[in-house]
Amino acid sequence: MKLTFLGTGTSTGVPQLGCRCKTCTSTDLKDKRLRASVLIEVNGKNIIIDCGPDFYVQMRRNDQFARLDAALVTHIHYDHVGGVDDLRPFCPPEGFPFYCTEDVNINLHKHFPYCFVQHPYPGVPHFDLRTIRPYEPFHLFDTTITPLTVMHASLPIVGYKFGESLAYITDAKTIPQRTIDSLKGIDTLVLNALRIEPHHSHLSLSEALDIVAQISPRQAYFTHISHHLGTHAEVSKTLPSGVFLAYDGLKLEL
Ligand SMILES: [Zn+2]
Ligand SMILES: [Zn+2]
Repeated sequence: MKLTFLGTGTSTGVPQLGCRCKTCTSTDLKDKRLRASVLIEVNGKNIIIDCGPDFYVQMRRNDQFARLDAALVTHIHYDHVGGVDDLRPFCPPEGFPFYCTEDVNINLHKHFPYCFVQHPYPGVPHFDLRTIRPYEPFHLFDTTITPLTVMHASLPIVGYKFGESLAYITDAKTIPQRTIDSLKGIDTLVLNALRIEPHHSHLSLSEALDIVAQISPRQAYFTHISHHLGTHAEVSKTLPSGVFLAYDGLKLEL
């Protein structure tokens, strides 16, 4: 399994437009963060988790000739679904496999109504929406994927666990004990860590470190990062062993 971080930034991206702080003016490419998304290669197939507004640029940067075989979505917020229209080149006639909760499914119809009309304009994306339910594993490309509930303030959203190899969690503020328990023994944990100061709907750095300590994975990578966290180089120095900041373009072999 191969994991590529297509984007590791919070909803504004880093640099944040108009900001001249130390992080936003850093010349380190690791401080340039597009909106959060990952590409996972498993058994010769490519799965994307979330498809935000930077999707087109992310695919061009990574491998513009790559195939895409399925999408998994964590929640309906714009920074996670703003690029679904750009999935159109990947949509087969039978529809592009798109995994999401019932709630996301309903909201997709509201946000992208032209994709779901009876006689759509030729060329618009055509989805094969597949409803997932928390804690009910499903099989995709010979891999077992388990959706796990995490709380984005009061909104339940999903993280995804791939066998016992990888878990991808973004936009969590709190994580139910059932999810913590099911993550014990995971090899690689990807988790959101927004900034140093507490935030009402995202884990801060210290809260994220506390979750990592509870789960105790072999290695953990933080994503969905704000300019308020600080520069990649400075923050990386403060992290315990086995815990890293992800950055755009980072590839992991798992
Ligand atoms: Zn987000
Ligand atoms: Zn800034």
